[in-house]
Amino acid sequence: MLPTLPQAHLPLLEQATAARGNALLLTGAEYGGQRALALAVFAALNCTGQRGMGGEACGVCPSCRGLAAGAHPDLLELSPRETTGTGRAARRRIIPVGAVVQSRDDRREYDTHVLEFLEVRPTYARRAVLIRGAEFLGPEAANALLKLIEEPPHGARFLLLAADVRAVIPTIVSRSTRLSVPPLSDAAMHEELARRSGPDDLDPDELVALAAGRPEVLDHAAEVGTALGQAAGFHMALREGMLPTLDAAAELESHWTPWHAEALRSVWRAEPAPARAGLDTALAALERALEAYANPALSFMVFGLAARAALGVDRA
Ligand SMILES: [Zn+2]
Repeated sequence: MLPTLPQAHLPLLEQATAARGNALLLTGAEYGGQRALALAVFAALNCTGQRGMGGEACGVCPSCRGLAAGAHPDLLELSPRETTGTGRAARRRIIPVGAVVQSRDDRREYDTHVLEFLEVRPTYARRAVLIRGAEFLGPEAANALLKLIEEPPHGARFLLLAADVRAVIPTIVSRSTRLSVPPLSDAAMHEELARRSGPDDLDPDELVALAAGRPEVLDHAAEVGTALGQAAGFHMALREGMLPTLDAAAELESHWTPWHAEALRSVWRAEPAPARAGLDTALAALERALEAYANPALSFMVFGLAARAALGVDRA
């Protein structure tokens, strides 16, 4: 399903579609609406129907319908892969050169590389490459991409998303039109939530608090709702005793997603600052342990005990 472009970002769509150059770099927090904006720009480039007042695509022409169905022939979307070195090396996210052009040590991690994709004529107006996590482009991949940005086959466009522009290779930044996508106000987030059909059993205030102005979080309401429920269960168990804590920690382990870390931080924002600081430290240690492939069962146990210590309940 396509992420919904927030009403508050419509003026950005106008700016983005008017931008000159072959590459657009959209920056802002992950889930902040950059992908929705990039897809709206792409939809507008290829729309053959009647476009809206703000330049939005019609939503009903063959190109728009293909995009909504998740099968548009002119769009290639790339994300970083998690690589692991040898042994217990930490996970590292990277977009390797093999994603952009055929490379010598190509392990065909990417089904289609960018050059191959762009050599084919567009089915509609323009082919586009959407790169999530442009800060994870390796130097070789960035160089190969630069050549394509300078002379894109068939007038292709590049839509680059990054959380932190300072982490993007400067030569890429300098050849892109930059737009920063600001967080939405809580009021705007509630309006966006009302436009979507989400799970009924979810407290809208809790969801909006966790989302912190990032509209694409609302597109994951069901997963976030589950994570919030499990985080609240774990938080309650901390005060019930050691055994309930270890049970709840094991339960967290078996369902763990990145949303759970956000849900935990959101659930314990009601705790006094010193306790919250201790809980945050315990969670950061858990995340580091998981990244370094430590034993998950043990890491969650340690996390549960550290969280009880942070609340000062283990000394009772
Ligand atoms: Zn259309």
